[in-house]
Amino acid sequence: MKRLEPIPDQYLKGHKQLYYDPILNALELLINGECLGLPSRPQCALSLFSEQIPADPDIVSIFRKVKNLFIRQNLLTASADTLYHIVDNWRLSRREQRVKKKAYKILLDIFDYSNFREGNALVIRDRKLYWETTRGVWGGFELLKHLSQTIKYCPYCNADTVYAFEKGNKTKVASALDHFYPKSKYPFLALSLYNLVPVCSRCNTQMKGSADMKDVANPYIEDIHRNIVFFPVISSTFPLLDGSCRIVVLSRKGCTPKAIEFVRRFELECLYSSAFAGDALLCMERLRRFTPKFKQYLAAVIGTNDPRLVESLFLGMPLNENEINKTRLGKMTLDFVEQFHL
Ligand SMILES: [Zn+2]
Repeated sequence: MKRLEPIPDQYLKGHKQLYYDPILNALELLINGECLGLPSRPQCALSLFSEQIPADPDIVSIFRKVKNLFIRQNLLTASADTLYHIVDNWRLSRREQRVKKKAYKILLDIFDYSNFREGNALVIRDRKLYWETTRGVWGGFELLKHLSQTIKYCPYCNADTVYAFEKGNKTKVASALDHFYPKSKYPFLALSLYNLVPVCSRCNTQMKGSADMKDVANPYIEDIHRNIVFFPVISSTFPLLDGSCRIVVLSRKGCTPKAIEFVRRFELECLYSSAFAGDALLCMERLRRFTPKFKQYLAAVIGTNDPRLVESLFLGMPLNENEINKTRLGKMTLDFVEQFHL
């Protein structure tokens, strides 16, 4: 919900170093109609680009468009704003639409996210494409490991954890990297670092899916938390007992249409009212008990003069808005504290 930090230069440079040349070479081979074997799914490219069958000019024209974007816009490391601009302007002619499926399938073999996630490197030998194991020098896991230092909770729901670690036997355990602009619609953005958002598995698989996200606030671009307010609606005398609490998400003055669409797409009202009503009620109950006298008592127990630290520890509240992505349900808690005039 809080805007994500820029990805450090060292990662952008490393990514470009590993993937720029082979992807450009692969695109050139495809455009020239040369035979290019893709080991994972050989039939797609070989049947289209064998010596006997001339390359389909409409497929080649899609590859040419992608190559132009790849060079001019630095697809691998382009900023989130640039990616939005690309998505907003991506058009195919009627003839290109006809062959889109075939072309996209081949592009997905070149911009292959599953191999990137495993940390494999793309190499071309004898006009054939291979993914080689690099033993985890760089890849999706390393990116997630870095991002999870500052993003502890999913930037879509602010509720479930984002993590990446290795077990004792070196097996990798990690949450998901979501393609904000989906691979199925923009396969050439599958390895663009600013298209990869560290998220929880529920948001990645059940809440978002492969819907187009052109009209939705992008967590690398917008401070979504500043556009909205979580508000509790209680319809019972003893809400803690029967859990009767509904959470509505209100728009702040000046709220962007994309932030409203973000709330709608991730169904935040439904999600929070169903899954986190108990957390909301507990937070309000703590607020009710948080009298000045009790605060003084807690400060003495904790041994601090910092009232903000006492509030944060007792309420599970972020110390400031920069900590929202590090605190479970941090945005909702901050909003409740503001509404109930702590
Ligand atoms: Zn989530």
